[in-house]
Parts: sequence; C-alpha cells; structure tokens
Amino acid sequence: MAAYEYETHEYDVVVVGAGGAGLRATLGMAEQGLRTACVTKVFPTRSHTVAAQGGIAASLSNMGPDNWQWHMYDTVKGSDWLGDTDAMEYLAREAPKAVYELEHYGVPFSRTEEGKIYQRPFGGHTTEFGDGPPVQRTCAAADRTGHAILHTLYGQSLKNNAEFYVEYFAIDLIMSEDGECQGVVCWKLDDGTMHVFNAKMVVLATGGYGRAFFSATSAHTCTGDGGGMVARAGLALQDMEFVQFHPTGIYGSGCLITEGARGEGGYLVNSEGERFMERYAPQYKDLAPRDYVSRSMTMEIREGRGVGPEKDHIFLHLDHLPAEALAERLPGISESAKIFAGVDVTKEPIPVLPTVHYNMGGIPTNYWGEVLNPTKDDPTAVVPGLMAVGEAGCASVHGANRLGSNSLIDLVVFGRAAAIRAGKVVDADAANPKLNQSSVDKAFDRFDGLRNANGAVPTAELRLEMQKTMQADAAVFRTAKTMKEGVEKMTKVAAKMDDLAVTDRSLVWNSDLMETLELANLMPNALATIHGAEAREESRGAHAHEDFPKRDDKKWRVHTVSRVDGTKVDLSYRPVITDPLTTEKEGGIALKKIAPKARTF
Ligand SMILES: Cc1cc2nc3c(=O)[nH]c(=O)nc-3n(C[C@H](O)[C@H](O)[C@H](O)COP(=O)(O)OP(=O)(O)OC[C@H]3O[C@@H](n4cnc5c(N)ncnc54)[C@H](O)[C@@H]3O)c2cc1C
Repeated sequence: MAAYEYETHEYDVVVVGAGGAGLRATLGMAEQGLRTACVTKVFPTRSHTVAAQGGIAASLSNMGPDNWQWHMYDTVKGSDWLGDTDAMEYLAREAPKAVYELEHYGVPFSRTEEGKIYQRPFGGHTTEFGDGPPVQRTCAAADRTGHAILHTLYGQSLKNNAEFYVEYFAIDLIMSEDGECQGVVCWKLDDGTMHVFNAKMVVLATGGYGRAFFSATSAHTCTGDGGGMVARAGLALQDMEFVQFHPTGIYGSGCLITEGARGEGGYLVNSEGERFMERYAPQYKDLAPRDYVSRSMTMEIREGRGVGPEKDHIFLHLDHLPAEALAERLPGISESAKIFAGVDVTKEPIPVLPTVHYNMGGIPTNYWGEVLNPTKDDPTAVVPGLMAVGEAGCASVHGANRLGSNSLIDLVVFGRAAAIRAGKVVDADAANPKLNQSSVDKAFDRFDGLRNANGAVPTAELRLEMQKTMQADAAVFRTAKTMKEGVEKMTKVAAKMDDLAVTDRSLVWNSDLMETLELANLMPNALATIHGAEAREESRGAHAHEDFPKRDDKKWRVHTVSRVDGTKVDLSYRPVITDPLTTEKEGGIALKKIAPKARTF
C-alpha cells in the first residue's frame, strides 16, 4: 500500500469545480450557512465558463413576446425528445428568476435603449411552439457573457465566506461500503501535499470532456474528471454518445466563433457563394440548431462545395454588418478571428468548420442535481451524498442536442437547485461521516501507480492516439462500420493505460503526472461515448447514424446508461421521463404540444 501523509478537512459540502455551475452551487450553499469548500484545479475565473461568449437563455421578453412554455417547447424539440421533461420544465420556468438573480449579484449585462437586459436570437429558440419567428431570448454581456458571470459569482462566493482550495486536483471519490459518498481525495499541485476532504455532500462540477477529441473548442482542462471519478466508483454515465459539434470553430485552431455571430445577422456560404442553409432549413436558415447546421455544412463539403484550396471548410460572413455593431456586440470574436484566422471581420469572411463543443451526456442526475444510480427496479435511485451539476452532469435537459445559450442557464439553474436541495438534506448540526479508510487508501494506491508508471507509452502519445480515434470514428456522421472500428481501436488504446510512461516522479507542479491523471479520466468518457454510439441504431440529435437515418422512438427513446470498468463497457437503458412537473390545468404545457414529431426547421 502506498503511504502518503495527508491533511483532513471537514465540511458540510465540498464542491469540486469552480466554473459557472460549481460557483453557483458554492454560493447557494454558503448563503444558507453551510460550511462550504470549493476545490478547483485551476483558478476559479480560469474555468472554461470564462470562454462562453454568446449568452444565457431566459424568456424575459425584453425584445418581444416570449414565455417559459415556448422556451420549454424549444428545449424539448432541441433535445430531439431525449431530455427528461420534468427537468426541462424546471429549467425553462426557473430561468428568468436565475438570470435576475445574476443581475442583482452584479453581472454587467448589455442593455437595451430602455435599460433592460439585452437579448439576441440564437439557434432553435422560437415563438409559438416552433410555429412563429425566431425569438430574442439569449441574454448577453457583449460576447463575454461567461466571463462576466464567472467573475461575479466568484466575488459573491467570497463575500459569503465560501472557502476556496485553488489548484487542488481531485483524484477520487471516497465511497462508504454501502455506496454513500463521503468526500474526495485531493493533491495540491503547487506544494505536493495531499488532502482528504470529508463532507456530508460532494458536488461534482468538473465540466465536460471535449479534450477526448482532437479538435475541440473547450479548454485543455476539460478532461471529464468527474465522469472518470464516477466511473471508478462503479457508478453510471448517461447518454455519452451525444457530442455536440459547433458549426463555427475557426478552421485550423478550433477556436470558437459564437453562434451570436449568426444571431447578429452573420451567414454561412459555400464555394458557389450560396447561402446554403436556406435550402436545408427554409424557416430558420442559419439559426437552425447546431446539429442541423453542422450536418448541412458537412454535406456541402462532402459534395465538393467546400471553400479553400482543399475545399474542406465553409465561410462565415459578418462583413455586411455595420462595423460599429461588430465592435459593440462582437468585439471578442472580431479579435479571435484576427488572431486565429488572420481575418478582418469587417472586410472578409471567417473560415469555419464544425468542431467538438459540448457533451450532452454526463453523470445522470434528477433535477435537484442528485446523482442517480439507475437499476432495473429503480431507474431513478439516488446516490446518497453525491450531486453533479453543469456540463459534468446530465439532468437531462439537453437530451440528444443542446440549444445554444441553454448551457449557461443550466449551470445557474441547477447549481442553484443543488444548493436548495442541500439546504434540505444536509444536516449542519450532524457529525461528519466516519471515512471508509479502504476507499481513501485505494485512491492513493491508484495515484501512486500512475506516478511510478514505467511502461513504454508517454502520456502525450496515448492521448493523441485517443483524440484522433475519437475524432475519426465518433464524428458528425457515423456508420456501423466506423463505429465498430472505433470500439475496437478505443479498446486497444485504453488497454495501453497499463503501459504508460511517466518520467517525472516529483509531487510539486508535476504536469506530466497531472496530465496522466486527466488522461485516466478522459479514457472512460471516451469509451462510453464510442460504445454508446455503436449500440444506438437510430439517428437522433447529434447522433447521425448513416445506416439508420431515422429516429426510432419506439425502441430508442431511452437514456443510455454505461458503466466502465477498465476497457470494458456495460450498457443498459433507462426510460426517458415524459411527464412534465405541472399539468396544463396548473399552468404548465399541454402534453400534446410536446409529443414527439419530426424535427424540421
Ligand atoms: C468556447 C466556448 C463558448 C461557449 N459559449 C457558450 C454560450 O455562449 N452560452 C452557453 O450557454 N454555453 C456556452 N458554452 C458551453 C458552456 O460554457 C459550458 O458548458 C459551461 O461553461 C461548463 O461549465 P461548468 O461549470 O460545468 O464547467 P467548467 O467551466 O468547465 O469548469 C470546470 C471546473 O472544474 C474544475 N475541475 C475539473 N476537474 C477537476 C479536478 N480533477 N479537481 C479539481 N477541480 C477540477 C476546474 O478547475 C473548473 O473550475 C461554451 C463553451 C465553450 C467551450
């Protein structure tokens, strides 16, 4: 057994992650007087949420008629009927409240002439239950909305005496013999000390796993650490095959150009100068949802109408928009286009390509953020002491495809919901759990094994192999053949984890070891993704299966539940929750409005 000395910390709640979800949960916990620690591997305001540009969806009706029922309908349809209806209702209903709260906490939103929060159109957000024109629902602070939210929530959390453990890397969950989460084992990156957090509630807010792919808009820190920890604890991941490709990553670098660019009037053209989205989505054109636009772009390129010498990308035009509007509404992406594509957006189009952007799947939860351990008899059984929020979680409000600006609202609505729920289930006066020592020891053993790994394959090499495999075989379009190959290749890649070579054995700022721990977390996420995709014989949302081009509600309107153990993936399924929280009589949405139908735009 590996012998590491460690310091023990006791809290009511430990939140792992300080992105929008983690900070909103931390703030809500601390506001209620719960002793709250927030552990984060990067400084809070460096979390990937800082990069969110376009905005946050809520039916405030500041720019025209809107209501939460329309927002809910769009979310249901956007999810391609795979989201859980209770959670989607909760999201749409609570969204305006959550945004006004942000405003009162101090988020500097852009303003309309009358001084109201400015809202822009985003893909898939419509009026009249999808029959009316696009709606302006996305609240924005120029094109730096995530940045504004993160800084505000961090300041408010400090004000409420939440304690931050910055640059602490969470290694593994501490689980009791009977399956209760009791805390988390951490490594402090800058001095090499070890820390055990004992808590009555652990909240995973560790973000997505975009870095399982070669080209992604997400930060290098988005390595699915929460999913990795959960998989190792024998718990489930859900709907991992649904990976969103954003239509407009800058060609080459993958850096994001927000959908807000199309919201402000930008449009896509092919090599013939044609605005091809008019053909694919006559009603909503460039503002159809992301899966739809990404597939349309891929079709254009495949049919030889891509732009550039290799005919392998598409142009996004903003140069017809007034220069002042670009400077006021889209300053950040104007700068990114200059730096990453050498393009002056007032004069030239931006070269773009669909790029991995968001993980709809994650750790299954109910709409209070409580983690589920679905079994045949009880598909919504709760894991005591464990919550998951934000991109790490799967509530599931995004189902098979997320609408733009619905993630930032998911972070704050469910971060807040987790805090409300914790206020009910965490007893601040009770003693902390007695830690299961064998679970603590197991975490240190695994850590020590990776630290001393002396095989033949360097971490960076294996990571690249995984990323290339996932990029090629879990792509925008998928076939039975490519996915079968993908499963075989990924199984081989994952098996090489036993042959890793870590060269630095120190404990202080050992980035080699940190990246190895991250790779060990990416791997189960990647495996669950490719296995889930291969098994799902239909096309739904972001999962476009060329051999099964139709959605099959009879067989496949179910959540994929995957348990990963080493290179093995066990798949089962749980029903989608189809009942909303309130009936039509109670002011809710009519069931017939949200009954599945073909998804066209
Ligand atoms: C470029 C870009 C633009 C986007 N724009 C928008 C937008 O305009 N609107 C919208 O709705 N959505 C947008 N999204 C999506 C949205 O921003 C993300 O889904 C969301 O920010 C994720 O937030 P999070 O709090 O779940 O995680 P993150 O912000 O990724 O934070 C994760 C946190 O977990 C911590 N962490 C992770 N692993 C560990 C570990 N092992 N130990 C300790 N700490 C750990 C990190 O330190 C970090 O604090 C965008 C995404 C990208 C990539």
